[in-house]
Amino acid sequence: MDRQAIAAYAVYILIFAFGLSVGSFLNVVIYRLPREGLGLARPRRSFCPVCRSPIRWFDNLPVFSWLLLRARCRDCGQPIAARYPLVELAAGLLVLLLFRRYGFSPVFFFYFYFAMCLLAIALIDLELMVIPMALVYPAAALGLVCALVEPSASLSGAWLWNLAAPTLGDRAASLAGALAGLASGWAVLKLTSAAYLAARGHAGMGDGDPPLLGMIGAFLGWRAVPLVVLWSTLIGLASALILMALSRGKPRQESWGQKALPFGPFLVLAAFIYLFFGQSFLTWYWAIFLF
Ligand SMILES: [Zn+2]
Repeated sequence: MDRQAIAAYAVYILIFAFGLSVGSFLNVVIYRLPREGLGLARPRRSFCPVCRSPIRWFDNLPVFSWLLLRARCRDCGQPIAARYPLVELAAGLLVLLLFRRYGFSPVFFFYFYFAMCLLAIALIDLELMVIPMALVYPAAALGLVCALVEPSASLSGAWLWNLAAPTLGDRAASLAGALAGLASGWAVLKLTSAAYLAARGHAGMGDGDPPLLGMIGAFLGWRAVPLVVLWSTLIGLASALILMALSRGKPRQESWGQKALPFGPFLVLAAFIYLFFGQSFLTWYWAIFLF
């Protein structure tokens, strides 16, 4: 291996370590943001959610500390959920994938913020069935800014690839694509949930799902919206069927199959699939149906 290759690997390892520590911060956001009385900076030290003992710095390293402590709190011995190291690993992987695609560029930072928000939103919704608007609204605004600032690299749906010097018209087209994504994403779920409420007499979807799909549309463009809706519905249905099969014969209250499933995590999963594979999927799709 030559020196250049070693340097490239070293950069990837550093980027991955950076992702792990951002994931560690996300765990704090996921726990504290939806809970009353907990600020992101107060208390300053992380604590065990069971016994409230502060966590020592050497027990607070991403992934490694969880493995070394064998998933138990050093003070009270209660289990530490696998969610913590899994969020850290997911953040590390996402940052690595985004860095591979965009390198150190403004777009990298825009999509990095988008991906981290999606990850936090999915986990908060999974645990507490709420989608925090404090994460959704700023990210939606940032999606529009990204389309305007980097029209050739953002996915806003304007098909402006590898432009050396985007003109004002390119920027306007890109911003329009992102605005169309924001509006169509929000509207399609808002209308679906209104129709469901009218037909069934109770809500079938959380209030946070339409703004979440709007935020996804602002970053991924209007072309992403129908695919994200289709994929999230399919993944959601498959998961509901699997959970129902797993919970057969168990008491009604305890079984997952009887609980309402949050839709946010499935929207997030579909958004990640589109972010990393959407472009190749659309190219393949049009190649089959047009030529
Ligand atoms: Zn403890």
